[in-house]
Amino acid sequence: MVMSEDKAFSVLRGEMNKQGLNNWSIGFNNRKSSAGLTNLKKHSIVLSRFLLMFASDDQILDTMRHEIAHAIDYEQRGFTNHDRFWKLVARRVGANPQRVVEDDSWAKKIPSKYTYVCERCGYSVNVNRRLKNMDHRFCGVCYRKGFKNSHFIIKQNW
Ligand SMILES: [Zn+2]
Ligand SMILES: [Zn+2]
Repeated sequence: MVMSEDKAFSVLRGEMNKQGLNNWSIGFNNRKSSAGLTNLKKHSIVLSRFLLMFASDDQILDTMRHEIAHAIDYEQRGFTNHDRFWKLVARRVGANPQRVVEDDSWAKKIPSKYTYVCERCGYSVNVNRRLKNMDHRFCGVCYRKGFKNSHFIIKQNW
């Protein structure tokens, strides 16, 4: 965990209050492809928990400010996008105004949810769902070498 949810909440709360967004709320979701979003109808800024786990502090902070710029832009105009008005706001709140396409390098660092490791040879398999019938699954690498009953140990990555 790069940044805990509590820490992210208080950092974002501070940044939002500094910009007069005291009446906007904060949420978290489990999206793996979108760092953050601004829910205009609900007056809420939402961050991905995966962003907190796998992005750098700089990426997290820039995501917060990027969304803050959308919230301010929306309050001023009634809509928001990435045009030059938004860029002015982004610059003012310290967000990178050039980053209009999401930086998803953090998302590429998200490992599979589970890793199955052979207890004998260490051969591993990455999967996002728990495999069923583990009592009847044996390591194929070991199997070919004559060790026919090597089980896997499950590791949960997040
Ligand atoms: Zn944006
Ligand atoms: Zn094995």
